[in-house]
Amino acid sequence: MYSEATKIFDIVEDISQSIAHDEAETIDKMAKWPEKSLRELQQQGLGGLTIPLEYGGLGQGTQVLSKVCEILGYNCASTAICFGMHCVGSAVIASKVTQYQQDTFLTPICEGRHITSLSLSESGSGSHFYLPQTRMQYSAEHEYRINGTKSFVTNGGKADSYVVSAVAEGSHSPGEQFNCVMIKAGAHGVKWGGEWRGLGLRGNSSRNMELNNVNISDKDILGQFGDQIWYVFNVITPYFLTAMAGAYVGIARAALDEATYHIKKRMFSFNGRALASSSVIQYQLGTLWAKYSRIRALVHYATDAFDNSDDEALLELFSAKAEVAESVVEIVNEAMTLCGGVAYREGSKLDRMLRDARAAHVMSPTTDMLRIWTGRSILDQPLLSDT
Ligand SMILES: Cc1cc2nc3c(=O)[nH]c(=O)nc-3n(C[C@H](O)[C@H](O)[C@H](O)COP(=O)(O)OP(=O)(O)OC[C@H]3O[C@@H](n4cnc5c(N)ncnc54)[C@H](O)[C@@H]3O)c2cc1C
Repeated sequence: MYSEATKIFDIVEDISQSIAHDEAETIDKMAKWPEKSLRELQQQGLGGLTIPLEYGGLGQGTQVLSKVCEILGYNCASTAICFGMHCVGSAVIASKVTQYQQDTFLTPICEGRHITSLSLSESGSGSHFYLPQTRMQYSAEHEYRINGTKSFVTNGGKADSYVVSAVAEGSHSPGEQFNCVMIKAGAHGVKWGGEWRGLGLRGNSSRNMELNNVNISDKDILGQFGDQIWYVFNVITPYFLTAMAGAYVGIARAALDEATYHIKKRMFSFNGRALASSSVIQYQLGTLWAKYSRIRALVHYATDAFDNSDDEALLELFSAKAEVAESVVEIVNEAMTLCGGVAYREGSKLDRMLRDARAAHVMSPTTDMLRIWTGRSILDQPLLSDT
């Protein structure tokens, strides 16, 4: 396992340092989906990163996923999140897979021929992604019709399939409950909203997805009716938090390196001294390093707990991602101050990092929700008791 993970990190490091690094500026400027890096990750056999070995994947858990996203996020946050969402979607499909779903989705994913993504959020429920209003209506024997509008679907319009949440209604389903279903790209009735023009994560292609009478068969339903809470807390949330936390730790490290590089080369001609010789600057950089080191360790600790089925793993993951979100924004912000006016110029690397980092708080589960869920867990209150 150790050597396998090290091999994976080496491959990802190569792709991150070459393609993702070179493309990051254009991806940001042109809001371009990071196709080149994603295709290379698939080509190098990493498409099935989070899919179990028995289905042809690499069988890796949240810790390797977080590290992969960290390596990618160091050079290009959009690449990290797009690949991360593919891995989250893959893990969701694999967790209760049928033979049909294995043949249709997992095998092509593992063979590097298929990208998937998560399509849960809606404007009606916002960050409460577990309360979809999209409806799933029984239409004929073994068939359902899906209607609703999803928002911010990363890899939107680019992926080959989408894990979509919908609430079942009608006499052939036991009450109102949310299910995850698979919708293939190009399915009749899927309409994509305008191009994604984000403040940051501009390569994400996080677009709206309209579902107008989209037909699915019962073979496209993941798990059983009533599995929704199991999916939310056993796969969706842990993998989602992990992918995001990893990517943001990568941004934090990149910002620190950028500040270090600037401080080391900045000389003042009026007194011939280097900025690096200032104790205040040394202190500030040391403080930022400690914050970075702390969030990296937290993510490592939380993912280790999850992968080893520790009882408090979810609490650790909630808090790790919330801490990462707060720290990454602070680290990039302060790195910008340390680099002075040149970093404040449009198009500086820290300009992009600050915009990318800012998404950490609003990508669900948001920082607010994670703090509330942690408090509720400690107090033995139902996690989803109200909105
Ligand atoms: C770049 C990007 C990529 C994304 N990718 C995906 C994706 O791939 N798939 C997907 O399904 N979704 C995705 N999302 C959507 C994301 O996960 C959130 O659902 C979305 O950002 C929430 O936005 P909103 O405007 O509806 O927030 P709102 O729900 O309106 O929340 C606004 C603020 O209020 C806070 N808040 C809301 N309700 C409460 C409450 N009861 N108590 C305390 N605080 C509360 C929130 O924490 C937030 O800070 C993405 C979003 C972004 C920005």
